[in-house]
Amino acid sequence: MNNFGKVYLIGAGPGDPGLLTLRAHDILQKADVVVYDRLVSPAILGMCNMKAQMVDVGKMPTHHKVKQSEINKLLVKFACDMPGATIARLKGGDPFVFGRGGEEALELVAAGVEFEVVPGVTSAIAVPAYAGIPVSHRGIATSFHIITGHEKEVDSRKPEVGSASGIPAAAPESTSGEPVGLDFETLARCPGTLIFLMGIGNMDFIARRLIECGKDPKTPLAFIEKGTTPYQRTVMATLETAGETIVRESVTAPAITIMGGVVKLGKSLAWKKNLPLSGKRLVVTRAAKQSSGITARLTALGAEVIETPMIETRSLESPQAMCHSERSAVGMESKDSGLQCSIDWNSLAKFDVLAFTSVNGVESFFKQLFAAGYDVRVLAGKKIASVGKITEKKLLEYGIRCDYVPEDHTGEGLGLLLRDVVSDESRILLLQGNLADDTLLKLLPKATRWIVYETLPVAELPEWKREAVASADAVVFASSSAVENFVQVSSLSSLVSRQSFCQLSSQKAFCIGRMTESAARKHGFETVTSDETTMDSLVKKIVEYYA
Ligand code: SAH
Repeated sequence: MNNFGKVYLIGAGPGDPGLLTLRAHDILQKADVVVYDRLVSPAILGMCNMKAQMVDVGKMPTHHKVKQSEINKLLVKFACDMPGATIARLKGGDPFVFGRGGEEALELVAAGVEFEVVPGVTSAIAVPAYAGIPVSHRGIATSFHIITGHEKEVDSRKPEVGSASGIPAAAPESTSGEPVGLDFETLARCPGTLIFLMGIGNMDFIARRLIECGKDPKTPLAFIEKGTTPYQRTVMATLETAGETIVRESVTAPAITIMGGVVKLGKSLAWKKNLPLSGKRLVVTRAAKQSSGITARLTALGAEVIETPMIETRSLESPQAMCHSERSAVGMESKDSGLQCSIDWNSLAKFDVLAFTSVNGVESFFKQLFAAGYDVRVLAGKKIASVGKITEKKLLEYGIRCDYVPEDHTGEGLGLLLRDVVSDESRILLLQGNLADDTLLKLLPKATRWIVYETLPVAELPEWKREAVASADAVVFASSSAVENFVQVSSLSSLVSRQSFCQLSSQKAFCIGRMTESAARKHGFETVTSDETTMDSLVKKIVEYYA
């Protein structure tokens, strides 16, 4: 049994974040490293553990793309260097459908690295489904075939037809690196639906070869571009008009080509409505917890939403206490005349109850405790309280079982519970962040509060997010502080050069209220402001603007 990290080969689905599996979501939330491809949507990257190291191995064609052999080595290296870590290898669609997941798995086996495969919803089936085209249909198609028409030179020497049977389909290139061709005669005879992945650039050639080999030139065909995303587009053609249609309509990758009688069903079954915000990429800048409401609404209206929290939490090096003169500040040593005082760890002995109100609080407290040379034995005999189940679970990771968890998982619930169960003489210590409100202190006036972490503007946006933000149509600001944070974070993000920052500020800003509007204008944004200072009014304004 080695002590390596574990690698998860995860399928991210075709684009719509709603098509991510629950299993994939769980792993991404706890991943220490995420190695991701170009086709993975920003919304899915945004679901990853905020602390995960994000490694982009699938740059756009103009950038250098990491070679497959290097990706294989990288996965092994992460696993070997990071014992116990969760390493997510995130790919578009399904990892075993032209995703080279098999090759990566073989490399992991050879290196003795444990791995798991998390299948994804493949674009081969889901993208046609989003265009209202069933890949099989009684009386029309009794089989379907998924084929790579990949971008390199195509010849007719070797067949490469992946089946939908669950057996890993062949990779786009043979192991010798030689381009793999298609058996056009077999394909032309095949009565089922033909689904081509990749290969838009070769489609003119593929269509001509299929006709030469006897396939009906009138076979209906559809190109589905950026399927399942807000940018989805379906272009209909026939085998004989395939090439000219691609040029005329500028069909671009990623796109799927589907051929066969089922394509006609798309005319009556195209269910995906063109929504008011379809094709718009909007940046939402509120703090992560607050943003999901507006994100869900804008997403439901068809937009692609990039959530960009502008604040993050950071552990303090050692706990600080607020110096309230009227409060019995056990163990505090006054520092200057400021509000915060450093604490003396020996004073921990004087407390009977320790109350945690967040996972951050737990993590920061133990980090500081261990750094000061102590271990969990200093907590022997103390009662432990947690605001809710997630914090309780985090404490369990440190071997600490909670004595008190309120039914109502709020600060108020915790305060009321402690007031009931703890005796008046008990000394309560609250371990919180600098922005915690006074709810608990009001309910427990004799308690002491140590601040173990603080909330600050995020130091730097990850690269994938910078790219997503820079290419957005607009930014949505709900307060003037959100504008200030956005500007500060953008200029702090060292890789946002002045030039690209100027580009950001020439973007459109949708603002709630006049204060937000004037903050955004001050920084050069072109503003559109809601009539009322409500989220409803803002959403309405955004829809009206794009109508
Ligand atoms: N493993 C992936 C396929 C990887 S090959 C899967 O199971 O879906 C990449 C090709 O998949 C692209 O060239 C394109 O043909 C297709 N593809 C992936 N996502 C797509 C999307 N959202 N819309 C259209 N085609 C897509």
